[in-house]
Amino acid sequence: MLIDTHSHTYLCKHAQLVYPEAFLHIAKQMGFTHFVFCDHNPFPGDKYDLIHRMTLDELNLFNEMYEKQVRMSKEKDLPVPFKYLEVDWQPFDNQASIDFVNAYLADFDCVLGSLHFNSEQEKAFMESASVDEYLALFQAQWLAAVDSSLFQIMTHFDFFSFYNKKIYELIKTESGLKQIEDFVIQTVLKTENKNFLLEINTSAYKNGPEFKTFPTKRVISELFKQGVKFCVGSDSHFIKQVGQQFKSVFESLIEIGVTDLYYVEKKTIKSYKLADAMKLYKAIDMQEVARIQEEFKLK
Ligand SMILES: [Zn+2]
Ligand SMILES: [Zn+2]
Repeated sequence: MLIDTHSHTYLCKHAQLVYPEAFLHIAKQMGFTHFVFCDHNPFPGDKYDLIHRMTLDELNLFNEMYEKQVRMSKEKDLPVPFKYLEVDWQPFDNQASIDFVNAYLADFDCVLGSLHFNSEQEKAFMESASVDEYLALFQAQWLAAVDSSLFQIMTHFDFFSFYNKKIYELIKTESGLKQIEDFVIQTVLKTENKNFLLEINTSAYKNGPEFKTFPTKRVISELFKQGVKFCVGSDSHFIKQVGQQFKSVFESLIEIGVTDLYYVEKKTIKSYKLADAMKLYKAIDMQEVARIQEEFKLK
């Protein structure tokens, strides 16, 4: 088995304008047996960050596209798609996230939890708070998200390092990086709910897995020893990003001693063998990317 547990569709307004089927053709070329059909969640009343997500009405379209994809995968022998949604945990309005998941996601395979800090209030806090104040709020909210048990996967723990200028500067130094690595390790180990996967989001590993993004190799290694389970997702918004950096991340994981990776089906965590995934994985064929994006361009 080989699966990419995180991708997006054009409904989020910042992804490639192709039919979702295009992602499955590239995934097949790369050896994937399974793929995840995912996107950013809407909020009732479309009250948050509408520039990065579908409207609530469009969730029906997302569901229809998924059903169509399941049929098409059978007909055309494409990777089996699962239905996930990436849901923002609103740090200043937890109830909005809780209500949305409870009302709309009963039949989804998995809910990915993310802390994006992109509403006006969140951005203002991020800019005015000190590093310690920000980390304290981030940790409290990350733990609240995990312990809500709404999420089977917690996604891109790197996000705060890219969007918070103070932390971005801090991790350029060796001691600052270590401080933030320790923060990540301590935060993950503080959860009461242990039944979730931590995502290795390869979109941030463009400069190789040693790049200063989280979880770093040291963080993965420490958390792996403590029994934390990992999934690997590309967070692809463009078809050329499907399975990006998987090979180098797999190699790092093997060095750490990881043998099993995980995914979620019908809200249940399941495992597959890293060695098998390694054997199936093939590098992306850019000529195929050019052909597929032309063939499946949105009309
Ligand atoms: Zn996105
Ligand atoms: Zn994403």
